[in-house]
Amino acid sequence: MVHANDKGPFMPIDATLPYDPDNIFAKILRGEIPNDTVYEDDHVLAFKDINPQVPIHILVIPKGAYVSWDDFAITAPDSEIAHFVRKVGEIARDLGLVEPGYRLLANIGAHGHQEVPHLHVHLFGGKPLGPMLARS
Ligand code: 5GP
Repeated sequence: MVHANDKGPFMPIDATLPYDPDNIFAKILRGEIPNDTVYEDDHVLAFKDINPQVPIHILVIPKGAYVSWDDFAITAPDSEIAHFVRKVGEIARDLGLVEPGYRLLANIGAHGHQEVPHLHVHLFGGKPLGPMLARS
């Protein structure tokens, strides 16, 4: 079967394809690859990005097998979506980021340049982040 990240690492994935249980975040969730955990419960894991773009760069993921935000929005139960959204906010608040401000980002598919085919929300903070998209 063709999976969402069969194009290889660092290439944007096709978010319309089925979930690939061998993606890197699935391996992190199974404990096969170490991570620097910031928060964990039965449904959510938050950990430091291996290649931080700013002083605070956390990835928040649901433990369920969702390729992207699109997949999550369509297939996850309301209770799981509500829990995930609340936890993203709580994690940022617990890191002291509400007062200085922070940014959330979810890349989806090719134009979003999503590289890992397991839904993740980037949480950026710790310095002024500038305009929303890179200006060329
Ligand atoms: P995307 O482009 O899919 O939105 O972002 C994927 C993110 O996952 C990148 O910021 C990348 O640095 C991060 N990442 C990729 N592999 C690993 C890993 O093995 N561990 C951690 N902690 N982060 C990873």
